[in-house]
Amino acid sequence: MAGGAGFLGSHLCESLLAADYDVICADDLSTGRIENVKHLLDLPHFTFRRHDIRSPLNVKVDAIFNFASPASPPAYQADPIGTLFTNIVGARNLLELARRRDATIIQASTSEVYGDPLVSPQREDYLGNVNTTGPRACYDEGKRCAETQFFDFHRLYGLKIKVARIFNTYGPRMRPDDGRVVSNFIVQALRNAPITIYGSGLQTRSFCHVDDLVGGFMKLFHSSPDITGPINLGNPAELTVIDLAHRIVRLANSKSPIVHMLAAVDDPKQRRPDISRAAGQLGWRPNIDIDDGLLATIDHFDQVLRHAAANN
Ligand code: NAD
Ligand code: UDP
Repeated sequence: MAGGAGFLGSHLCESLLAADYDVICADDLSTGRIENVKHLLDLPHFTFRRHDIRSPLNVKVDAIFNFASPASPPAYQADPIGTLFTNIVGARNLLELARRRDATIIQASTSEVYGDPLVSPQREDYLGNVNTTGPRACYDEGKRCAETQFFDFHRLYGLKIKVARIFNTYGPRMRPDDGRVVSNFIVQALRNAPITIYGSGLQTRSFCHVDDLVGGFMKLFHSSPDITGPINLGNPAELTVIDLAHRIVRLANSKSPIVHMLAAVDDPKQRRPDISRAAGQLGWRPNIDIDDGLLATIDHFDQVLRHAAANN
């Protein structure tokens, strides 16, 4: 599991261990945290290796999950060339490892391959609308190039690949300072601080709870080899950012005012997955209602913030 100490990767490590797999978690801890896997470190079937996937890795594996990449816009834009190379060179190193080991390799791709989409909902055959020269391109183009390499290794060498395009996912273990919208709004609401909407707030996203997403990944992992993807994994329930802000304020019983800031450059105006392929090929659909998922996430962040305050 590359990127296994991150938000999504740590949840997937737990699910793999629960399904009786041995897990090697390789992570450079750049945006992830060892605390995310500290409860796993003493387990006999879990190994942690601090490793940057931009360097080749040699381990004995039957399957590889590539979750290693910064994912939050402020994090990936802080080191754009590093992000690009993690997604291009890092993916290449893991593909070579899969080839040497005859292992299945699963890529955590992203809805960002659709860029600022001109059609909605986005189906997997939509080719996208990415600005190659903008500040999001290091991530979007890195992920697009990773997909290209996956399909070339599959065509050239018969490598067993699976590519999932993940849409916005939230839940426990997002970093409070991660910069993504759900963690920002929840932390702001719990502190009764202003909720910062970038631009009009009329842009939309579709938010999936991490438990639903990880369920989809486990189904993809266990699917037959002819299911290569790309396959969208996300929750089709679409919200404006303003609606999300109001929900979080209400659910957290917060007194936060809502303020509008400058819009982010190249911010996609709409995003909603068409999940017919995941439903048809994997029998997967998300089940967790957005308000239930947000409430549980607010509780989680409340505990994290209280714990941090008590230790300061
Ligand atoms: P995250 O930042 O919490 O996790 C990423 C992990 O990768 C971190 O632990 C980080 O330390 C590690 N990492 C980064 N660069 C690395 C490198 N060069 N070598 C080794 N490890 C490295 O983010 P996340 O939300 O858990 O995202 C995980 C994956 O899922 C990413 O590839 C991301 O692009 C993809 N994804 C996430 C979402 C989402 O909504 N969370 C949406 C689409 C795609
Ligand atoms: N956003 C916002 N306020 C914030 C953080 C994000 O209004 O404090 C907006 C952002 O401009 C985007 C949406 O929320 O329109 C989702 O942003 P995020 O960074 O979570 O993920 P993205 O889908 O853009 O990668």
